[in-house]
Amino acid sequence: MKITLIAGPCSAESEEQILKTAEFLATKTSVKTLRAGVWKLRTRPGGFEGHGEKALRWLQSAKEKFGLSVAVEVTTPEHVELCSKYNIDTVWIGARTTGNPFLVQKIADSLAGSDLSVMVKNPLNPDWALWLGAIERVEEAGITNVIAVHRGFGTTQHSELRNSPMWEIPIEIKRRRPDLQIYCDPSHIAGRADLVFPVAQRALDMAMDGLMIEIHPDPKHALTDAFQQLDFSEFEKLVSQLVEKDTHGKHNELEQMRAIIDDLDEELIATLAKRMKIVEKIGEYKHEHKVSTLQMERWKKLLENRLNLGRKYNLNEEFLTALLNVIHAESLRIQGDKR
Ligand code: PEP
Ligand code: MN
Repeated sequence: MKITLIAGPCSAESEEQILKTAEFLATKTSVKTLRAGVWKLRTRPGGFEGHGEKALRWLQSAKEKFGLSVAVEVTTPEHVELCSKYNIDTVWIGARTTGNPFLVQKIADSLAGSDLSVMVKNPLNPDWALWLGAIERVEEAGITNVIAVHRGFGTTQHSELRNSPMWEIPIEIKRRRPDLQIYCDPSHIAGRADLVFPVAQRALDMAMDGLMIEIHPDPKHALTDAFQQLDFSEFEKLVSQLVEKDTHGKHNELEQMRAIIDDLDEELIATLAKRMKIVEKIGEYKHEHKVSTLQMERWKKLLENRLNLGRKYNLNEEFLTALLNVIHAESLRIQGDKR
């Protein structure tokens, strides 16, 4: 593979797990960098929160024994200091940290003068400027090897994926900063082991420069992100099936635009499904309270309001009217089913 591959467990759980993973990567794959989280404050308190400094020693010994470079997430200046102490090669700023410029600035200040490589994951909210701002803070601290990592964005949409890729955002970063490497973390986008491959392949189609993938010797018993980690043979299979594309070819731009359309269509369909669920509830309510299915006044107002909105977004009025009629007809049908 021409692209860079980084792999390793979500969390460093034991010395044995780290060494097993390092041995696998060094002997069976072309991966040069082992990743592992050692500070793992999760969404809610009380779970496994990482082994901290002790785990940095495990990573240091994996590095010495197997010649891999090692990467760890940092969230405070103290973490940066400890990573330097244990000869960690790369640190990354996680999605929850990138969204906070105060924290990013503190971390950047603590990085000044070090020769660490730094990966900056995108923030949870889909804001390219916030992401680029974090990258710039790290660059201003004098770090020369800075890499952006696309791990998807928090979303309220129903989707099979844990985080929405919103490819238009990494593409915007690429457009503004063609000099910057962008890796993709398909594991956190997918959230499920069986979806990691399609997202990873899509990332290659999107001309990403590398992949960061979570793997674990025994994913079912992983202490964090158990659903999305691949076991070793799944990882080998994934790498062997990935197809690298000609990223400078004339069709690349077309592929990128198609990916954006695919995402938007998925959102459209998820939104329609959500709407129809509510329609079903309304149908039940009308049935219980003996209200007629068709409410002409409501329909007229709705149509007028949506056509106004459409004008704001420059949508063709005939098209939108036809679309709203189809949606309304389906809503009436669903409510009819409730009787
Ligand atoms: C991780 O890589 O394990 C992690 C916590 O990532 P993110 O910050 O993207 O959620
Ligand atoms: Mn994880």
